[in-house]
Amino acid sequence: MTARARGRDAYDVLGVPRDATESELKRAYRELAHRHHPDKNPDDPAAEERFKEIAIAYGVLSDAEQRARYDRLGEREREGALDEVMADLRGTVQEVWDGLLADLLGRRGRQHGRDLRYTLELGFEEAGLGARRKISYPVRVGCPRCQGLGAARGPEATRACERCAGRGHVPMERAGFALRRQCPDCRGVGRKVVRACAHCAGEGSFRVERELEVVLPPGIVSGHVQLLRGEGEHGRLGGRAGDLYLVVRVADHPELRRDGDEVSCEVAISIPQAVLGAMIEVPTLTGKVKMRVPAGTASGKLFRLRGLGMVRPGGRGDRGDQKVRVRIEVPAELSARERELYEALAREKGQSVGEPMARPEPRGLFGRMRQLLR
Ligand SMILES: [Zn+2]
Ligand SMILES: [Zn+2]
Repeated sequence: MTARARGRDAYDVLGVPRDATESELKRAYRELAHRHHPDKNPDDPAAEERFKEIAIAYGVLSDAEQRARYDRLGEREREGALDEVMADLRGTVQEVWDGLLADLLGRRGRQHGRDLRYTLELGFEEAGLGARRKISYPVRVGCPRCQGLGAARGPEATRACERCAGRGHVPMERAGFALRRQCPDCRGVGRKVVRACAHCAGEGSFRVERELEVVLPPGIVSGHVQLLRGEGEHGRLGGRAGDLYLVVRVADHPELRRDGDEVSCEVAISIPQAVLGAMIEVPTLTGKVKMRVPAGTASGKLFRLRGLGMVRPGGRGDRGDQKVRVRIEVPAELSARERELYEALAREKGQSVGEPMARPEPRGLFGRMRQLLR
């Protein structure tokens, strides 16, 4: 669902009476466009929708003939008309909007820079404790000499664009209404380059490797996205630069698992350690620590190491706990001496131990035949 109220009248959108003069319309549009400009409301998607609606309403009413046609429509049709235009525009709404804005503010060809995406691999410990990382990525920055136009200085360096006759916009019909969209040939500038800027060879931009230091707060999970405003591609002719979306991937740890702000792990202990108690080493986010296992510890028992888990958000630096589950490891193979000791232990308890020696399975075809013939 968009935040836009459906079925609104173009006059209501601009907040003017039905008999508003052309200059009143323009003034209302200019004021609203400024107030709802997405540059001023970067975190409000509703503002962008509102801005587009304002642009379309003005696009419909700014042409006298079109306005008269709009006025002849019934109330219901009028409300539907704006929606129809909005729906019909879809992919081109940005161009219409750019065209209208350029016309109004005299900023032709101004274009926002492209957003970029960067995937950052983060270690498990870094994610848990927070990290500072240097990243570098290729990005296009605008040529300072020509402001991204790509033309040399002087009147002869450019000529008017043929397609739009230098206006920067071309007519477009949507849902029966004549609107304007940015000229695709000159991208709204209205001019074509004749003599290229020597500084950037007419490209208007340079490819550079940008280095940034990013601060990653502790407790980040895989898929976390950090927005770095203005660190994307450059904007053309005074347009705002794009943003950089830093997507974080957190690596798995061979022993540690994350569980909210807690960290968990499993540690193996031997039978004597479980029976007699021991000091064991446990991996944590900040390296190995010693943990006491009391005598008579059962397999699967859970221990809690206070404050060794993930750093909690909020900047105070307090951390969750680490849960350590101990598992008693039963040896699969014994040395002769170990066997003696286990047998002695069993005798002490009066328990019968050991299993009857199974006859080894004969190997190979001949072995099996020999067994059959025996
Ligand atoms: Zn053009
Ligand atoms: Zn240049």
